[in-house]
Order: sequence, then C-alpha cells, then structure tokens
Amino acid sequence: MDAPARRSEPLYEVVGPAVGVPASEQTIGVLAMEVSKRMKSIPPYIFAEIDKKRQAAVARGVDVINLGIGDPDQPTPKHIVDAMHKAIDNPANHKYPPFGGTPEFKAAAAKYIKNRFGVTVDPATEVTSLIGSKEGLHNTIMAFIDSGDVNIIPDPAYPVYKTSTILAGGEPYFMPLKAENGFLPDLDAIPADVCKRAKLIMLNYPNNPTAGIADLEFFKKLVAFAKKHDLLVCHDLSYPEMTYEGYVAPSIFQVEGAKDVAIELHTLSKSFNMTGWRIGFAIGNPVAVKALGSIKSNCDTDIFRAIQIAGIAALEGPMDHIEACNKLYIERRDLAVKELTKLGWNVKPIKATFYMWLPTPEGMTSAEFAEIMLDKAGIVVPPGTAYGPQGEGWFRMGLCADKDRMKEAFDRMAKHEITFDMKKKAKV
Ligand SMILES: *Cc1c(COP(=O)(O)O)cnc(C)c1O
Repeated sequence: MDAPARRSEPLYEVVGPAVGVPASEQTIGVLAMEVSKRMKSIPPYIFAEIDKKRQAAVARGVDVINLGIGDPDQPTPKHIVDAMHKAIDNPANHKYPPFGGTPEFKAAAAKYIKNRFGVTVDPATEVTSLIGSKEGLHNTIMAFIDSGDVNIIPDPAYPVYKTSTILAGGEPYFMPLKAENGFLPDLDAIPADVCKRAKLIMLNYPNNPTAGIADLEFFKKLVAFAKKHDLLVCHDLSYPEMTYEGYVAPSIFQVEGAKDVAIELHTLSKSFNMTGWRIGFAIGNPVAVKALGSIKSNCDTDIFRAIQIAGIAALEGPMDHIEACNKLYIERRDLAVKELTKLGWNVKPIKATFYMWLPTPEGMTSAEFAEIMLDKAGIVVPPGTAYGPQGEGWFRMGLCADKDRMKEAFDRMAKHEITFDMKKKAKV
C-alpha cells in the first residue's frame, strides 16, 4: 500500500512555543493524518495563547508585568517541602500509588474537611484523590455527560467547564453571572427544558474570575434546585482559604442533604501555594466519587506517593502561611483599589480570591483593552471574554505580583493614559 501523501500545510498548529527555543527558530511539523473532530471542536487553551503573546513581548525586550496569572507567588511552606524531601528518599514511595489516593492521604483530607467545615466524610468511600481540580473537573464531566446532555455552567467561568463539556459531546448551558446579582446565578431563570435535559450543574465560590462569594443560603437554594431537577452539583472550591475581612467560605456539605446530590473539588494549589505539585481531592456523594475514581483509574495512575505525603503535611500541618499570604493579597488589593480609583475606575475591595474583575474603559472591548495594556504598558491582563461571552466588557487583574511591580504597572497605566474614560477623552 502506498503511504498517504504528505501534506505541506500543518493541519493543527501546536499551541505555544517550545520551552527554551526562541520564537524565530520554532518550526511546526507536518502530519499526514487529521486530528479528531473532538480535537477540532475546541479552541487552543486560552491561557496558553495569552502566554504566547507574553513570551513574544518578552522576546521583543519588553519588561512585561504579568497580572494575568492565578498562581501564588509565595513559595510552598517549608514543612511541606521538607516532607517531600524525606519521602522521596524512601524507595517504597517510588512504586505505583494505589488508585484513588493512599488511605493516609484520604484520611488527612477527611480530617481537614472536618476541622475546617465541620463536615464528616468517609475517607474510604467519600474521598478520592485528584491530580488537581482541573483534572477533577474534566473527569467529573466525563463521568456524567453523554452526547446531547446539558451541563449548566457559569458564564464567565474557568474555561475547562465549557471545553470538557464539548469534549464529552455535551452541550454547555451558560448561566450569566452579573454584577448586579453579586455574580451569583439566577437559578430560577434557567428554562424548564434545559433543567430537564441537564445532568450536571457546576459552580465555583469564591469565584474565579469575578471574586463573587456565596453564603450558605445560596448553597441551600442550590441543593434544593438540584434535588428538584435531578441534577448532580459539582462545586469547585478552589479558594476556601483566600478570604478577607471575616468572610468564611462554606462547603456545600454544610447544607443538610447536600451529599445526596453533590460532589466538591478541593485543591492544594491555591490554599498551600502548591500549583506545580498537582494534588487535590474530591469529596461527596459516594456514587459520584466512585464514578469519578473509576474514570480516573482508566486514564491516570494517581499521584506520586511522595507528593501525597507532602499533601498530608499540608493538610495536617500548621496553617499560619494562610494568614501571612492573605495579608499580602490584602495589601496588593488595597493598593490596586487606590491606584485604579485614581485612574477613574469605580472599584470595591474584593472579599475573596486574588482576582479583581473590572470593567474595560467605556466603549472598549475586552480584546482591545488587553491588547492596549500589553502593547502600550507591557502589562498582561486576560480579556474577560477568555472566560465566556458575558466577560465582554471586562478584564481580570490578578494580585500575584509583589507590591512594587503592581505599583509600577499602575504608574505605566497613568503614563500611557490608560484610564477608565480614555476612549471618551480620545474622541474629544
Ligand atoms: C486554579 C483553579 C482550578 C485548577 O486548580 P488545580 O488544582 O491547580 O488544577 C480550578 N478551578 C478554578 C476556579 C481555579 O481557579
């Protein structure tokens, strides 16, 4: 048989330049066969695209200030790193880990949940390990969404909610999160036929990207809604500890009966400055937890044991880094509020997360504004549209850079007259 003819045009461009290779020397290869329809159904990962632009600016010699990332800038606490050092020397930890997490890690997760939220979960049946929440979100969708099923998701939202739904052949239904509703969805506005076809509803409070928060009353309504419409709730609780001024983020399982209809994803990424370690866990309804674990056991082989031991050190160890980190985020937040107010924005201090969700200058799209910020001031901010159509007219500013860098960013904005009314002024 003849070999298939080589195509000269690449059919699918590899996202992002290879690490350490200058952009000018990047070559993108040629592939004879086509990528799957599934692959073609999703856009390149938006943050990889944004990072490409950042790298290109750096390559041009721009001193880029990255306010686009949601990655704690402080190191992982020492006692956690020390636990890893010790664990890695033990050959017993070099072997395949058990599916669903080691009993010790699951017990530590259950203990943390009990201490922090007053919620009891059975480590054997109601906890499963995750290689971070991103993986947990994807596989929860894979475990519950079939072709044609609806997944009710927020708009704006962390992009995985939508793309994994599409990868599963499902249909995302967007609940708008609006400023006037405190960035909470209006559950009663979801059409009856959508509720009928939906199997899953996903939410995330404290919220990325809006910094919206939810109280227990909201979760009560949500649980009742899920029971009424026979839905599984997947609550992505990525920021339970990043809260300010006395606000305490609840777990959905503080609502009585929530375990009948919900699963909650926890991650050590943001709470313990451990984004690179890839460790988290899911808790909740034992059938849902089992389904998630079952999908996972078919496509990954869990978390390196040494990392699980470090995870135990995190969950059971001292928590004083939380207050120290939150103090930093509050300082940066207050600086941002002060400086943005000077630049004409009307901003309120956030009560949780390390994101500020801000309107673009009047009359300017998200893409236009993000481009101006990078081209004129060398500042990376993701356009609101990266998180969904409702994000048009918004941008996200992260608090993961130190105060001096943030001050420099605001000074550059002032210098280049990037103000809330810049467009109006330009017209005059
Ligand atoms: C950061 C983040 C995640 C992913 O966290 P990992 O555990 O590092 O995969 C998931 N959801 C939201 C809302 C996030 O902000």
